[in-house]
Amino acid sequence: MSKRALVTGGSGGIGSAICRRLAADGFHVLVHSNRQPVTAEELAAQICAAGGSAQACVFDVTDGPATAAALAALLEDGPIQVVVNNAGIHDDAVFPGMQPAQWHRVIDVSLNGFFHVTQPLVMPMVRTRWGRIINITSVAAIAGNKGQVNYSAAKGALHSATKTLSLELASRGITVNAIAPGIIETSMSQAVFDAKTIAQMVPARRAGRPEEVAGLVAYLASDEAAYITGQVISINGGMI
Ligand code: NDP
Repeated sequence: MSKRALVTGGSGGIGSAICRRLAADGFHVLVHSNRQPVTAEELAAQICAAGGSAQACVFDVTDGPATAAALAALLEDGPIQVVVNNAGIHDDAVFPGMQPAQWHRVIDVSLNGFFHVTQPLVMPMVRTRWGRIINITSVAAIAGNKGQVNYSAAKGALHSATKTLSLELASRGITVNAIAPGIIETSMSQAVFDAKTIAQMVPARRAGRPEEVAGLVAYLASDEAAYITGQVISINGGMI
């Protein structure tokens, strides 16, 4: 039977590319969404039509009890051995003008979401002695980005969580890594950067493609990457 892989935010730009790639690599993919269940259903159907294996699932990662209930139902069918914590939002403001709600919401999705989703999956993963936990973070967590104190704090905390969790799980055949993308072509980045700005900021003079991030996720999820753990791997066209 195929290993099962949960991709949070599978309805989004980067998440959908990750879902397609993991399905192409033979995983049964759980395409997760929160506010776009139809998009997740359609993607799962497309993956199945292309000969892959997928199903959609819907929950709000900021809602601990709802996430726990949804994951408990999914775990009834067996362990989920790959989790890609990709759901994330940004809500930018320079720090003096940042509203408490902007701070809390961004932390809630990226950091509390990581906890709510990952913790229930770990013990079933440990019992199989094989697992991959992959956290999608950001160049903003490493280099900073004006207007994103909340976002860089949330993603930076994920880097620290990645390191510590990797130490706890390394002896159980489970790797824990973070992928820190730079500017990737999705609606999230298109709303913020035009082509001229991208050419100024990125030595490669283009935005990255979601499929390029998905390729790195696929590698980290593979057997070949068993000895890579506790790392933050940048994919940013040379930005830093
Ligand atoms: P999108 O906005 O396209 O996708 C974001 C995804 O997160 C959506 O699928 C959305 O689900 C999900 N999501 C948001 N809030 C919640 C919530 N409360 N509960 C569950 N799911 C939620 O963004 P991208 O594809 O561009 O980004 C994906 C990841 O990559 C994010 O973590 C982002 O921070 C990171 N990243 C992106 C970069 C870029 O340039 N695009 C650069 C660096 C990092 P739904 O719509 O169904 O509610």
